[in-house]
Amino acid sequence: MSTWTPSSWRDKPIAQDVTYPDPAHQARVVRKLQHLPPLVSHQEVDSLAEQMAEVAAGRAFLLQGGDCAELFDYCSETPIEHKLSLILIMSLILLNGAHLPIVRIMRIAGQYAKPRSKPTEVVDVPDANGNTEKKEVLSFRGDNVNGYDVAERAPDPDRLVAAYFHSAATLNYIRTLLASGFADLHKPLEWSFSYVRNPELLQQFTNVVEKLQDRLEFMKVATGESGGSERGGTQTVNIFTSHEALLLEYEEAFTRAATSGPSISAPNSRPTTPGPSRSASIVRDERSPAASGLLPPKRFYNTSAHFIWIGDRTRQLDGAHIEYFRGIANPIGVKVGPTMKPDELVRMLDILNPDRIPGKVTLISRYGAAKIDDYLPGHIDAVKATDHVVVWQCDPMHGNTKTSAADASLKTRHFSDVMHEITRAFEIHREKGTVLGGVHLELTGELNDEGYSVTECIGGSMELEDKDLSLNYRTYCDPRLNYEQSLDVAFQVSDYLAA
Ligand code: PEP
Ligand code: MN
Repeated sequence: MSTWTPSSWRDKPIAQDVTYPDPAHQARVVRKLQHLPPLVSHQEVDSLAEQMAEVAAGRAFLLQGGDCAELFDYCSETPIEHKLSLILIMSLILLNGAHLPIVRIMRIAGQYAKPRSKPTEVVDVPDANGNTEKKEVLSFRGDNVNGYDVAERAPDPDRLVAAYFHSAATLNYIRTLLASGFADLHKPLEWSFSYVRNPELLQQFTNVVEKLQDRLEFMKVATGESGGSERGGTQTVNIFTSHEALLLEYEEAFTRAATSGPSISAPNSRPTTPGPSRSASIVRDERSPAASGLLPPKRFYNTSAHFIWIGDRTRQLDGAHIEYFRGIANPIGVKVGPTMKPDELVRMLDILNPDRIPGKVTLISRYGAAKIDDYLPGHIDAVKATDHVVVWQCDPMHGNTKTSAADASLKTRHFSDVMHEITRAFEIHREKGTVLGGVHLELTGELNDEGYSVTECIGGSMELEDKDLSLNYRTYCDPRLNYEQSLDVAFQVSDYLAA
């Protein structure tokens, strides 16, 4: 295989590329991005890598969730608090059932770019006489590419710089909240749970918190610990960030070489530095002390997020995205849909994880409730026949997108389809002797000014119906589970993990 560098993806065909009108402007932006500091540290990435190995081994459970498309506008105090609180609440519910540490990764602080099925779309625009006319415009590709407003559909490279600063501000606020005790288990009802109107859900959650508080008090007495950083959630918790790494120029600019070693945030865990390596992420410099074995070798880290993934539309084996991803040291994900062939899946794992690092690759399956039985068993069998140890994660959202019966312009998802795909994923893995390591959800804790949740998916304990969708439909991309529907999923997954 040819030599990997942070820019070797440029020699490969790239899917879903963005063409900017002014290459000189684009080059100035890239130089600026290269100059900016990392958003995450390589030690944090190593810590997540260790935790992902635990997920792969069935000793931890992964909760990943957030918006389909983050907007720059979401970078604001209340929306960030609502999102963080929802992930924390869900992780407590899961902890209660799973009795395993919960690894929390949010789709946040960089989840801007979107792949689209068509490069253009036809929209209604007002004409000079106040009537509307149909016009073909470029599709909205995410806030880091162009604007949702029809007048702003031309790609603008300055949006990449804006994406960095919005990511930095979002992540800073998450870090600030966590450092200030936001995740303290003694005040979960401050996590905006008070907005939930369904008394049964509220009671269920209060029971979970009381049970966990008792257990943690017991652990403190038993271990002499005065609170602290237990991973399942006491006073501080880890939150990791993630996004689909679609725009490779941006990702390349934040690809930085560092010496990996034992992580600073997980003092009891094993060092992650591999021995002799076939991985492209090792920087080989024969004159360096690393080459003589005195220092661990340098590796390339993507420092724009802890975890990045490749979408279902950009995972061509000979394409630019697979090329970029094979060289970085981060834990990575790949979306796996019905078009993935079992032998292609194995070849992809060989390329992405030549060193066979357990938990390095997360396979994010997204077949749809009606198709999971046709594809997941074959994919599991193919991986089982190799020496790859992957994280199997279920994305029950992207194979289950439908059009609203009442309004053909609205995309929706049925809660029952989402739960069916998750349940079948658990059952199929149990039958095959493999573990479902986690779930990948599109959700939001966002509320409108009256405190009501979004109405984008149908069903759940709120019993939202198709006709209700227009009440508070706010997504700019795919429909998300709302606050209550997300808790419904968490309780049902928690029951499954407890069984
Ligand atoms: C997504 O996660 O928002 C997405 C576009 O998913 P997929 O690549 O699975 O279609
Ligand atoms: Mn989506």
